[in-house]
Amino acid sequence: MIDTKAIEEHIRGILVALGDDPDREGLKDTPARVAAMYEEVFAGMNYTNHEIAQMFDKCFEEGFESNDSGRVVVVKDIDIFSYCEHHMALMYDMKASVAYIPKGKVIGLSKIARVCDMVAKRLQLQEKIGSDIADVISEITGTEDIAVTIEGCHSCVSARGIKKENAKTFTAELRGRFRTDPALQLYLK
Ligand SMILES: [Zn+2]
Repeated sequence: MIDTKAIEEHIRGILVALGDDPDREGLKDTPARVAAMYEEVFAGMNYTNHEIAQMFDKCFEEGFESNDSGRVVVVKDIDIFSYCEHHMALMYDMKASVAYIPKGKVIGLSKIARVCDMVAKRLQLQEKIGSDIADVISEITGTEDIAVTIEGCHSCVSARGIKKENAKTFTAELRGRFRTDPALQLYLK
């Protein structure tokens, strides 16, 4: 579990290191506020991928027998945010898209969005979000044919260093038939 008391102390230490006075009016509640915010925005760090899969394991029988590439479920442009592990900087304007070929079971569409949300609430790199979402969706639906694409802006790129404000990073996690079938890759556009 996230230790909010320890976060408070360390944020206070950072304020001192910055040369500011943590007891001045505007800052006196900042360590507690940051700790509460971290508890929320890093909520995914409390759970393994397996635990997230169990949390959102609501599937419906598909009612079809075969699993062929002619039937694909795609949920596009799910808004998420995360923090990069290199700078603890916000990754924003992020959109995740998830595509999979059902193998007898389909997961509720809102559950896909919830999985993306929870997985993103960790310290990590963008490509890791895609592979973790694919792991969880794969565990819930029992299919290996999954693609997760993510695009997003990284504040460590836009606000510091080279300051490329409009640069977006695009990552794709392609598994099973999404790796090999160009026709399926069209769904990711
Ligand atoms: Zn970074």
